[in-house]
Amino acid sequence: MKLTDLNIVQAHQGLIKKEFSALELTKAFLNKIKEKNKENFAYLTVVKNSALSQAKKVDDLILEGKELPLLAGIPLAVKDVILAEGVKCTAGSKILENYIAPYDATVIKKLKGKGAVILGKTNLDEFAMGSSTENSAFGPTRNPHDLTRVPGGSSGGSAAAVAANECIYALGSDTGGSIRLPASFCGTVGLKPTYGAVSRYGLIAFGSSLDQIGPMTKTIEDCKIVFEAIKGRDDMDSTSVEIPKIKNRKLPAQGWSASGGKIKNLRIGIPKEYFTKGIDPEVEKVIKEAIKKYQDLGAKIEEVSLPHTEYALPAYYIINPSEASANLARYDGIKYGYSVAGGQQPATGNLLDVYLQSRGEGFGEEVRRRIMLGTYSLSAGYYQAYYLRAQKVRTLVKNDFEKVFKKVDCLLTPTSPFLPFKIGERIEDPLSMYLVDVYTVSVNLVGLPALSLPCGQVHHLPVGLQIIGRPFEEDKILAIGQVFEKI
Ligand code: GLN
Repeated sequence: MKLTDLNIVQAHQGLIKKEFSALELTKAFLNKIKEKNKENFAYLTVVKNSALSQAKKVDDLILEGKELPLLAGIPLAVKDVILAEGVKCTAGSKILENYIAPYDATVIKKLKGKGAVILGKTNLDEFAMGSSTENSAFGPTRNPHDLTRVPGGSSGGSAAAVAANECIYALGSDTGGSIRLPASFCGTVGLKPTYGAVSRYGLIAFGSSLDQIGPMTKTIEDCKIVFEAIKGRDDMDSTSVEIPKIKNRKLPAQGWSASGGKIKNLRIGIPKEYFTKGIDPEVEKVIKEAIKKYQDLGAKIEEVSLPHTEYALPAYYIINPSEASANLARYDGIKYGYSVAGGQQPATGNLLDVYLQSRGEGFGEEVRRRIMLGTYSLSAGYYQAYYLRAQKVRTLVKNDFEKVFKKVDCLLTPTSPFLPFKIGERIEDPLSMYLVDVYTVSVNLVGLPALSLPCGQVHHLPVGLQIIGRPFEEDKILAIGQVFEKI
């Protein structure tokens, strides 16, 4: 097996058995990036020197015979909206093209504390706005399964880097599906944690009530390891919490083994609203087969209804731009990044012109669209009709989930109604791009955890299965996913 094919567990084993050094491992990935990045453009920035020196430190630890944390020496990629001190953080935008992060995001601090090796920063839709990574100011990332297709978005660079073996795992962020959709399109595992499970400190803010950082990995075991390492309460993010511990809780699939045996006490809900018009019949077939496998193993499958599903996407596309417009007000051509002033006088020499020109030139089309939509929905006279109404819909969507979670342990749905589409196919039509998120946004509106895992292929393109759980039951959806992964 090549070093770049290894997952976290395998690489850790190799390091402790001294089959290879951390330096060799990191070098193998740096070479892989050199070879692959030309074709898929997963990375925006590679930090070769710091990766090598970090790997060297881990080798020293091994030499000293110190116990090695699971993530020590394991190379990862980081979506370019998460700050790593001293490294450029662009958010895929011209406005932050030369912005150097002044501090580490909490997740980065935690991973560095475990000896992780950061290889670089990955491409994304500008400010994470998009579903295809085509909105990056620096050019699109390509899907490693078919270079003419999109990797999904907005964490497309992270997903492509995992799929093309340009890292062992990656971090993404998910505001409306941006971890799960690219995981689905690239055939990797992706977890969007419960809102508050992972600190958002050092994540460039997009939709603050929706954003979460999460792992993108090759296996569910790896996903568990990374989630374990990054989760937890952080004083720097007042919305973060410790995951509540439930004593003696049995996971539904506990005791199940791949060599036979039945799953006991697992009730799976299939929301009928996720299987209506619009879904690609070939994708639907693969998802139905996956559901059947759970049924054959003894899970109880039940059709359930989430009646407000059709309003979730429109509500999301009011709430998200509203929050985005407020968050992006800070890019004014003075405090951060790109500025038309740049030491010179703006066109007419007044401050407002610096703001307007810097933002007009620094932001791309989708970002400007959302700022306009959001500002409109939040303005006096429209606030009640749009933003407030969308928040009410959000409560209805939440009530739907609370009701079904009284009856079932988890929900199974497709992650996306479509297969990875061609580069250029949807980019001219924002509404058709927004529709890609139809199965993922409800989870963010409600703050639930959801996992996407590969469950089959159609025409050699991956299909993702989404498992949605109750708040803070990441362990449960991961265990349920692992059953599928092992059969
Ligand atoms: N595609 C969605 C959007 O553009 C989700 C983005 C995300 O999760 N960051 O809003």
